[in-house]
Amino acid sequence: MSQRNSNRQRQIIAVANQKGGVGKTTTAINLGTALAAVGRRVLILDLDSQGNASTGLGVNQAQRDLTTYDLLLGEASLADVSVETVVPGLFVAPSTVDLSSADVDLVEDRNRVLRMRRALNTPEALACDYDYILIDCPPSLNLLTVNAMVTANSVLVPLQCEFFALEGLSQLMLTIREVRQTLNPGLSIQGVVLTMYDKRNNLSLQVEADARKNLGDLVYETTIPRNIRLSEAPSHSVPALIYDHRSSGAVAYQKLAGELLRRLNDPITQEEELHEQT
Ligand code: ATP
Ligand code: MG
Repeated sequence: MSQRNSNRQRQIIAVANQKGGVGKTTTAINLGTALAAVGRRVLILDLDSQGNASTGLGVNQAQRDLTTYDLLLGEASLADVSVETVVPGLFVAPSTVDLSSADVDLVEDRNRVLRMRRALNTPEALACDYDYILIDCPPSLNLLTVNAMVTANSVLVPLQCEFFALEGLSQLMLTIREVRQTLNPGLSIQGVVLTMYDKRNNLSLQVEADARKNLGDLVYETTIPRNIRLSEAPSHSVPALIYDHRSSGAVAYQKLAGELLRRLNDPITQEEELHEQT
């Protein structure tokens, strides 16, 4: 059994792109699972009122008594809202449709963009001892996404391999820059990951070439293929890595986890790799 390295600095990664349906939730769930599989303690914080990450991880409505809405409003602590999933070491802070009223509810709070940061930095929240917190953002650059960016160390951007993929990216980058210039100078771009990639499709190749030309090293070497197993898994309430760990999608997310950990100077050790395979 591998020993968890408790000296690791907590990393908070916002998975964001204001475009809908590009693979944010699929990435949060499966990257989170792959990180937990190599011994990291991981939380997926569902900051989307659609609650897709919560559903995909098997948290039913009855288990959503306390949610990220309560966390945002300061009415519950991180430990209170975290639910353990079927994956050892993987937790989820679920959401419900309640979150959709957060901007209205907080309209009079001058510090509303700081709420999540404050909630995640209480001594109690730090004691939860997560190595990685992945925030699944909604498809919008709204108050919730800004809260995620103000809280995070970095932003991970899923980019769907389709026409117009790069459009809208400049708006996202602008928001990141604004947050960096004001409330979170340390915010970096973790990387851009190409999703729903089909190497037989010219459009995928074109989007990849454009992205690598324009964004350089920000684009992950690993691409996530279009894979039916990734879209089937949520209806079975488990990550694709559990549903079919040999599927091309599951394998790709494991590779992405390895690449992300190398970038963050927290590489997978041989022992952890062996542990994962057993
Ligand atoms: P939203 O903006 O609505 O939150 P999202 O960016 O979180 O969407 P997902 O929910 O992850 O996107 O994915 C959108 C749809 O595409 C889902 O039905 C999902 O199962 C499917 N999907 C995501 N990635 C892949 C993939 N690599 N291969 C096949 N299907 C995928
Ligand atoms: Mg989503």
